[in-house]
Amino acid sequence: MGTLLGGGATLLRPVPQQTAMRTLRLILGDQLNPNHAWFTKVDPKVTYVLMEVRSETDYVLHHAQKVLAIFAGMRRLADQLRAAGHTVRYLRIGDADNTQRITDNLRLVLRETRAQRLEHQEPDEWRLDRELAVFRADCGVEAACVSAGHFLDTRDGVARHFGAQRARWLMESYYRAVRKRSGLLMDADGEPAGGRWNFDAENRKPWKGDPPPPKPWDSSADLSSLWREIQAAGVRTFGEPMAERFPWPLDRAEALAHLRAFIQRGLPDFGGYEDAMHTASDRLFHSRLSHALNLKLLSPAEVATAAAEAHRRNPDRIPLAAAEGFVRQIIGWREYIRGVYWARMPEYAESNGLGHTLPLPTWFWDGKVRMNCLRHAVGQSLQTAYAHHIQRLMVIGSFCLTAGVQPREVEQWFLGVYIDAFEWVELPNVIGMSQHADNGFLGSKPYCGAAAYINKMSDYCKGCPYDPKQRLGPLACPLNALYWDFWLRHAERFRNNPRIGMAVRQALAMPADEQRAVRAKAAELRAGINEL
Ligand SMILES: Cc1cc2nc3c(=O)[nH]c(=O)nc-3n(C[C@H](O)[C@H](O)[C@H](O)COP(=O)(O)OP(=O)(O)OC[C@H]3O[C@@H](n4cnc5c(N)ncnc54)[C@H](O)[C@@H]3O)c2cc1C
Ligand code: SF4
Repeated sequence: MGTLLGGGATLLRPVPQQTAMRTLRLILGDQLNPNHAWFTKVDPKVTYVLMEVRSETDYVLHHAQKVLAIFAGMRRLADQLRAAGHTVRYLRIGDADNTQRITDNLRLVLRETRAQRLEHQEPDEWRLDRELAVFRADCGVEAACVSAGHFLDTRDGVARHFGAQRARWLMESYYRAVRKRSGLLMDADGEPAGGRWNFDAENRKPWKGDPPPPKPWDSSADLSSLWREIQAAGVRTFGEPMAERFPWPLDRAEALAHLRAFIQRGLPDFGGYEDAMHTASDRLFHSRLSHALNLKLLSPAEVATAAAEAHRRNPDRIPLAAAEGFVRQIIGWREYIRGVYWARMPEYAESNGLGHTLPLPTWFWDGKVRMNCLRHAVGQSLQTAYAHHIQRLMVIGSFCLTAGVQPREVEQWFLGVYIDAFEWVELPNVIGMSQHADNGFLGSKPYCGAAAYINKMSDYCKGCPYDPKQRLGPLACPLNALYWDFWLRHAERFRNNPRIGMAVRQALAMPADEQRAVRAKAAELRAGINEL
């Protein structure tokens, strides 16, 4: 097998382990990897600083579980570092001397520790990257940004793979290059295991109750007292905090236990039911590992390797299609999405290629909508801070796309609601993949569906007051008129798209009076978007 880390050249400084001068090292809330090279030796000259600040809780309205997970994870890491003998300065959200801004706190702690040098790990968010770059230049001490040692590729690895010329960056080509480089699921002769790169066609089964989904492997920490601190500090959040039995892993040991449970119980059926949705289970066979990955409690290399190894050891129980489907998400999609983010920011955030302007419906904040698929997917997101990929893409995202909701409003809701939402991964998924607002740079077609898709892949329609088979009339499923109207509105743009042109031509083949009726129905739905 090749190397899974270090996909290309890096401009970052190597991580120094022993320092000659008093040094302050900043650990951000999504940099909770206790195996980072920084921590291999205890150095009395080094102080590690972690801080809970309002500038991070308030830049978007966050789900309560997201704030809890990050603060609790930071506190766990600080405790572990102290127990290992490191010096830690921790600023809690309610501390009187907390200025509530990262850079202002850094000035404070630099003075306090009389540090002569500042180091921080490469941030994953554009906003913080800029803020810390400006601070480094102006902080009055020697300062350096070091690698976080997490991703398989560098920030510009995806851009270098495609080169400046390509108008579209197709994930598949990048994924194959990473597979070859890593040797994951590759034969000795350099061919993909099983002779195929992609098993998507086998991974599209609806789930009808069998096999039973594995019992959840959630954690259950009591974070009530932290929740009281967060509330006392006046942090605004939304969604269910679940503070008394907090379900997400808070440190590496818990995250590893979640990984093992998934490999054993979820992975065997991950592939087959990857696209399925069901009211009986919010996750089916999905891993729920994105949170632990994004906080860097787990590394993508170890997660992908664990899945590939599990298949190698027991191919009868864990079929190649399941292992490949999962590995593709980690070494393909996750790395590729990050590469798009760094190549396209900051302009990417404001993309609105389809000119959509509708405000986000009010029921996104309370889940009170009659459409059962959306009531379920939005309600589950508010309750658990989680929805799996197809709920995000083909229910919530597809509705916003076909209704014509302003993409930045959609993006801000996604950024707030999910436990795993960090801008580097959330923004390209929403703006590019789900809302097609980047003119197809990331996705070769808009991802949207009408009721037939939802009805095939879920049981949502059974409990819905709307009729999935009707396009017009008071009981017609709203998704149908919105879907056909979307193709009519954007027919010129998409009619020659080889992956979707057929749907457009079908829309255009409707008799003129039916087209008019569909457009009128969609306009009526948009006007009453808060009452669906
Ligand atoms: C509109 C939209 C918004 C999204 N927002 C986020 C987000 O804020 N944060 C986030 O981590 N993922 C996001 N995703 C990607 C994906 O939906 C989630 O990673 C996944 O649902 C997390 O659940 P899981 O861990 O059970 O994933 P699984 O289905 O078990 O997949 C395994 C892992 O693969 C990775 N992965 C899968 N798909 C993607 C993808 N498209 N992009 C990047 N990584 C991927 C994740 O790390 C995930 O944990 C979004 C997708 C869409 C369509
Ligand atoms: S009928 Fe339409 S709105 Fe209702 S659950 Fe099915 S797809 Fe969703």
